[in-house]
Amino acid sequence: MIALFLLQIAYVVSRRLIPFTSVPYYLMIMIKGLVFNIKGACKHSGQCCQSIMLYDSQKPIQSLSVWDQYLKQYPDYDSFVPNHKCGKIESFDCHCLTDEHMCSRYESRPAICRQYPTSFFYEHGFIYDSCGYYVEKNHQYFKWLFTSIKDQLNVFSKLNG
Ligand code: SF4
Ligand code: SF4
Repeated sequence: MIALFLLQIAYVVSRRLIPFTSVPYYLMIMIKGLVFNIKGACKHSGQCCQSIMLYDSQKPIQSLSVWDQYLKQYPDYDSFVPNHKCGKIESFDCHCLTDEHMCSRYESRPAICRQYPTSFFYEHGFIYDSCGYYVEKNHQYFKWLFTSIKDQLNVFSKLNG
């Protein structure tokens, strides 16, 4: 309870004093971490490895030139293959997903895969229905949120209830 209160104070102050830094963003991630609990386990649907969008600084990577630059910076993402029409990337497939929906480079998988589904949920506010993981809202903590933060999380979260 005290941690949640202090985080909210820090978030509101940082939004006011240093809004263009990453501090408010990471404080909000910490608030989300207290309010939402991710439970369950992977059931190997493979949905997070195929037909997915990749992001650079929270912007979707939609052009082949941006993807080339991204790969130069993060070469361990080279297992992802862009699906594109006339140079516009619509999604990515990872060629390391086996026919049994297992990861063939599990020990060396990139950060996005290691952090899934937590980082995906913190960005997008949902986890795929077919995923073995699911999100539970801590209703008690949610009640203790400042109104402005509660409103933000209501917009962010696509959870039912
Ligand atoms: S590296 Fe492994 S976990 Fe990551 S997308 Fe590819 S198959 Fe999935
Ligand atoms: S979408 Fe969920 S259940 Fe499917 S492979 Fe990814 S983590 Fe596992």
